[in-house]
Amino acid sequence: MTEKRSRPPKRLLLLGCGGFVGSHLVDRLLAETEDFVVGFDPCTTKVATHLQNPRFQMHAKYLQQGWDDGTLEKAIEEADVVINLAAICNPSDYNTRPRVVIQSNFTDVLPVLDRCAELGKWLIQYSTSEVYGRTLSSYVKGDQYKDPDLYVQEEEDTPMLMGPIQNQRWSYATAKQLLERYTYALHDEFDMPYTIIRPYNFFGPRMDYIPGRDGEGVPRVLACFMAALLDGKPLELVDGGEALRVITSIHDAIDSVMLMLDKPEGAKNQIFNIGNSGNELHIYELAEKMRKVYAEVSGDDRFLEHPINTVTAEAFYGPGYEDCDRRVPDISRAWRQLGWAPSRSIDEILRETVSYYYNLYGPGGSATNRYETSY
Ligand code: UDP
Repeated sequence: MTEKRSRPPKRLLLLGCGGFVGSHLVDRLLAETEDFVVGFDPCTTKVATHLQNPRFQMHAKYLQQGWDDGTLEKAIEEADVVINLAAICNPSDYNTRPRVVIQSNFTDVLPVLDRCAELGKWLIQYSTSEVYGRTLSSYVKGDQYKDPDLYVQEEEDTPMLMGPIQNQRWSYATAKQLLERYTYALHDEFDMPYTIIRPYNFFGPRMDYIPGRDGEGVPRVLACFMAALLDGKPLELVDGGEALRVITSIHDAIDSVMLMLDKPEGAKNQIFNIGNSGNELHIYELAEKMRKVYAEVSGDDRFLEHPINTVTAEAFYGPGYEDCDRRVPDISRAWRQLGWAPSRSIDEILRETVSYYYNLYGPGGSATNRYETSY
């Protein structure tokens, strides 16, 4: 039996409860609290095991549909806290369907924000580490790139630098930044309590989709590499995989929001970077680690030499892609305000995640049909 948290139960509204982060949050809330969870998401697959739970009420619809039929407004009125996770957050969409990216991340959320402000509801808004854009150090020459003051990202101090308009990669980052600014403006004008979370590459089971298995398209890097390993195809490094990322366990990430709900006085009216700065690596290192872990999990040493190719960003994503060079979070605020610090190493994260997908979709895996998942 999981031990329950001691705080009084809340009624939570989760927008985007059926995605990667949302589904893990639903798991933990239902297991560790007595909260009543109301969720909106067009997709129910990742929360299917909870649909019969009397403390979970699912509306299988987009925000816009919920707004049009009145169910979303009623759910906001009844909620103690509104947590918004609804987003298109996949880089392959940013430069190929930027209008839809901006609508889903900004326009569709506006009525929710306005209603939260009118009612004085606490809004926990998932944003992105991409709001910082590129690092200052990527614009300076020589050794200055190594100066931490020029790349470590601090919530209330670091400027936000993005490429030009025709580099539509930044459609997502700018939509999220405007959403953050609008949230902050509502707080400033109407005293709406808010919390903004800036995630740094959360990894874990149920992330995105595996093309050819439970979705189609180009997902984020973890799922791209996973699909390539399962299909016996080369891993593809965009522009040589020189970009740096910090990899954060989904479980560490969920710990942070659980603490926010436990300690509202520390969480309200704050912006938090949530990432594991100890787990920084180049994408080419991630590819090498993933094939090694896949070889261990599958027991097949041939994967130790699994091919890794380089492709140009233009060939992989199309025109208008521009990469974030590096994202290193200052996470001292989350520690000070919440007592949160991540603990899972990159090896632990990859082992859990690769095993999960191998057991689901590898040879003899539990998902026998295409598009079948066993969440
Ligand atoms: N990337 C890659 N191969 C892939 C998919 C992504 O080399 O198959 C790179 C991508 O260009 C970026 C990094 O991996 O530098 C992380 O990409 P992801 O899609 O996870 O999202 P991001 O961290 O940029 O938001």
